[in-house]
Amino acid sequence: MVYSARTMALLLAVFIALVTVLFLSLVQSVTNDGLIVAGVISFSGSYLLIYVVLEFLVFREINKIYKMLGKLRKKELGGIKSEKSGALNPLKNINEEIYSFALLKQKEIDELKKLEAFRKEFIADVSHELKTPIFAAQGFVHTLLDGAVNDKTVRTRFLKKAAKSLDGLDVLVQDLLTLSQIETGDIKMKFESFDLLKLCTEVVDQFEEKTQKKEIKLKLIEPQQKLIIYADWQRITQVMTNLVSNAINYTPEGGEVTISFDVSKKNITTLVTDTGEGIPQQHFSRIFERFYRVDKSRSREKGGTGLGLAIVKHILEGHNSRADVESEVGKGSTFSFKLPRSKDDE
Ligand code: ADP
Repeated sequence: MVYSARTMALLLAVFIALVTVLFLSLVQSVTNDGLIVAGVISFSGSYLLIYVVLEFLVFREINKIYKMLGKLRKKELGGIKSEKSGALNPLKNINEEIYSFALLKQKEIDELKKLEAFRKEFIADVSHELKTPIFAAQGFVHTLLDGAVNDKTVRTRFLKKAAKSLDGLDVLVQDLLTLSQIETGDIKMKFESFDLLKLCTEVVDQFEEKTQKKEIKLKLIEPQQKLIIYADWQRITQVMTNLVSNAINYTPEGGEVTISFDVSKKNITTLVTDTGEGIPQQHFSRIFERFYRVDKSRSREKGGTGLGLAIVKHILEGHNSRADVESEVGKGSTFSFKLPRSKDDE
């Protein structure tokens, strides 16, 4: 049973008044009126005193709880101060503290729920993506084992197909690894000043064979000034490789892919433009999500993992930048991103 300060004071005061009256009744010279007066005085006096003392003790305890809540909150928020009303009443302050603390916890719970849903979706996506090349390779190998191995032409064809599926699986696993390493922060960006034109020239060289095969003209438009940027060489190479690779993949034979630059006082914008199939506008915001493809079968047929642009997005986020897309269906697309010029070169 929990008594309030007032009830406690009342009970104790009655007890003290009774003891006082009982004690005084033993003294012969005290009259009945005297007993009543002494009883009333001792009751009121002790009631008042006990009530004030109890309230003070409760007040002190509440203040302690309030301070402890404040400390807890500070620890949770890493030193960020809460918005306090600064009221004198500790109960009001406690109420505010508990409310904001509960709000904070609710936010954390919501965040965790979102992450959990995201994790489940991701596992389902990855399993699905892995299944496709594994099943394909498995099918070819089993057909060979079931007798097709004896036919030389079928054997070579099926082995080539199985190898292609396994190569695709390798690329997918590499992309997944890169993405997860960037997301978990295992890969730290190594910022340095370097020549962006040199990087782009290396990327262009890398695609020489592919562009020749598809008869695609890959052009690098050199600007007047030097392009010294401050970024991570390896990661920006990956960004350019993914963007140029997509541009070539989604451009029909005989098309053109151009790398150009827009230089301002502080930044350099790199643009990768193609004359390919283009992207309908409603997909712009989603193509940077993992495994999102405008045309699933087309992407797979071109060996796409569906992770290229997600990797681009994460790397650019690591550079406090982002990729922009402009596109017109049937005419082509331009992917661009901005990076800061190196201080030495501004
Ligand atoms: P993928 O491996 O499928 O190419 P990406 O993440 O690199 O995955 O790209 C996501 C999707 O965006 C692609 O499947 C494709 O539909 C679309 N896309 C990307 N780049 C281009 C481009 N240059 N032209 C047309 N569509 C593109």
